[in-house]
Amino acid sequence: MPHDHPLLRFDAVSLGYGEVPVLRGLSFHICPGEFLGVVGPNGSGKTTILRAILGLLSPLEGTISRTGSPVIGYVPQRETIDTIMPVTAREVALMGRAPRVGALQRVRRADRDHAERALGLVGVTDLAPRLFRDLSGGQQQRVLIARALAGEPDLLVLDEPTNGMDLASEHSIVELLRALNRQHGLTVLLVTHLLPIVLNAATSILLIDRGRVLYGDADDVLDERKLTGLYEVPVTLGTVGGRRTLTVGTGEPPRV
Ligand code: ADP
Repeated sequence: MPHDHPLLRFDAVSLGYGEVPVLRGLSFHICPGEFLGVVGPNGSGKTTILRAILGLLSPLEGTISRTGSPVIGYVPQRETIDTIMPVTAREVALMGRAPRVGALQRVRRADRDHAERALGLVGVTDLAPRLFRDLSGGQQQRVLIARALAGEPDLLVLDEPTNGMDLASEHSIVELLRALNRQHGLTVLLVTHLLPIVLNAATSILLIDRGRVLYGDADDVLDERKLTGLYEVPVTLGTVGGRRTLTVGTGEPPRV
């Protein structure tokens, strides 16, 4: 894993809301071109890490450093998006230009071009005139990714982007992010409570479970012994058609 110029670096960071930290001694980084999967169960502190990354929460201890003021494209959870307003997919993508369109300035041709290009990158050009609220969950997620990409981010940060989706939509969103990372060099940080979501997409993984942390290159973290130790349940890794698989349990009937 390259260590020279991380966009974002956590060094022995403790995070929390009062005096008791939610997370202690957290160290990880993300370099340009990486795809970091942040994985942990509900309540483990993933949103807390996101708040710290976005600069909304200061560390109780340790340091968070950013090299070259990276622009972060944030894709929030879909449920947090207000779908009452009748806005089109194109308008949602154009909103991603807001930080770059100065106050009281009009949207320029270039802003429209960026939004259009972003819709194309995520494969929803044909949905541009449709109302956002009428789109499927998977289509809405693509438009939200386009909104973030329209702002030309150095780092795309996604919070549980596949929650509530069927298997096919989930797969296509993860494959889209993988392609944006591998083919377009986009740096991605994806937060999820499910390790299988990032199994074949992440280049590095940060696992949090009951206050314990496992972090490193995906090849190092995806180790049967380490995962079995962290989760305290037998984990078996394999490959099918060149893709990683993960199986939990021994196949023995449970002792009840
Ligand atoms: P996750 O996103 O993994 O579900 P969170 O980061 O939301 O986890 O929460 C981690 C812990 O921090 C939980 O115990 C939660 O109750 C606590 N927490 C989250 N937000 C706040 C807050 N604003 N004030 C106090 N405690 C909070």
